[in-house]
Amino acid sequence: MNLESNHLQSKKKIIVLGGDGFCGWPTSLHLSNLGHEVIIIDNLSRRNIDNELEAESLTPIQPMGTRLKVWEDVSGQKMGFYNIDIAEEYDHLLEILHSEQPDVIVHFAEQRSAPYSMKSPKHKRYTVNNNINGTHNVLCAIEDSGLDIHLVHLGTMGVYGYGTAGMEIPEGYLDIEVTTDSGERVQQQILYPTNPGSIYHMTKTQDQLLFHYYNKNDNLRITDLHQGIVWGTNTIETKMDERLINRFDYDGDYGTVLNRFLMQAAVGYPITVHGTGGQTRAFIHIQDTVRCIELAIENPPAREDRVMIFNQMTETHRINDLAKLVSELTGGEIAYVSNPRKEAAENDLHVKNDLFLSKGLNPTTLDNGLLQEVTEIAQKYSHRADYSKIPAKSTWTKEQQPGIPDAE
Ligand code: NAD
Repeated sequence: MNLESNHLQSKKKIIVLGGDGFCGWPTSLHLSNLGHEVIIIDNLSRRNIDNELEAESLTPIQPMGTRLKVWEDVSGQKMGFYNIDIAEEYDHLLEILHSEQPDVIVHFAEQRSAPYSMKSPKHKRYTVNNNINGTHNVLCAIEDSGLDIHLVHLGTMGVYGYGTAGMEIPEGYLDIEVTTDSGERVQQQILYPTNPGSIYHMTKTQDQLLFHYYNKNDNLRITDLHQGIVWGTNTIETKMDERLINRFDYDGDYGTVLNRFLMQAAVGYPITVHGTGGQTRAFIHIQDTVRCIELAIENPPAREDRVMIFNQMTETHRINDLAKLVSELTGGEIAYVSNPRKEAAENDLHVKNDLFLSKGLNPTTLDNGLLQEVTEIAQKYSHRADYSKIPAKSTWTKEQQPGIPDAE
């Protein structure tokens, strides 16, 4: 049942690092369905974090063995799987590159929750060790292997910071003008100055420097995708069989904002807005995430090119407006609670995303039908929800108190 193979330009061997995760699993299915040969590498650390937090995916995700078997039965396509830790097992990673000889590596394998990264010194140190070592091992192994592999990495819009003085955020590089010693005005482009808002975001800004260095020194071909907050859960492929279902995180650490609002409304829990809800964020639907990865793979940079950076988002919204939208759609009530993050109460966000649009992305924007679909999934599995896990408990500083209802 190969839905879209007629779009395939050329069949590639693709390793998906983090292919068991929220973005990685539907991407692996999508690439496999397109006709590519897909191999997943994942140490299942996200499932172990579920055990640590005692908060499972709302949807009943299947063990990796079942996922792979069902996909083979449904699609006729076989995907490979290696359970290794890319941050710790360098030699094993290199061996896999030598034996598999991939054309492309898609890199999702990082600890991706900002609140989790701020929980305690242990969580800060784990996030830094895991994310920075993992990314460096991948780059070092590509160079060490001598293979010409295109690396596609999932970065975040959060590397830019959220206060941009009314300027549209460019795609990775900022135009500047400097005055030379002889008084001449010279135009340059530099990596957009980073402004991380959490330890997690800080690791993603470090990733950017690692990419810059390996590209400059070893001519590695790298695409870095600065992704917005992903919402939704299903894609065309995950809907093919219930056992292919994707993760749905709703807890205070991993539940991303729009999915969390829809889940809260679906189970009759107040829609909790942090602070005034004046923060503006960038969003993308999971179906567009998988399409963007496909487009990034089809449009690789040349060896002499600099790191290619795309803003992978389709729209921006103020959090309070989203809460009101979900409330109108579902009848759920909104509750304002103290903001666990250290950030400005309000910000504007204007983002360029011309590169993906020029490559053929047709954005899926917020639409009542899709919001309804997520709500229905949340309702269907509401019996699996543990409401005590919904409030955000991590705080950015020791002085803050989490989840306290605001005065207004
Ligand atoms: P996720 O936690 O669901 O998936 C990450 C996967 O990587 C997990 O399956 C985990 O087990 C694996 N992993 C982590 N460390 C590993 C290691 N050292 N070795 C092997 N496997 C490892 O996260 P996600 O939501 O799918 O996010 C994937 C990527 O996309 C992240 O890098 C994240 O920064 C980026 N991103 C996500 C969002 C979002 O809204 N979900 C938004 C912007 C960017």
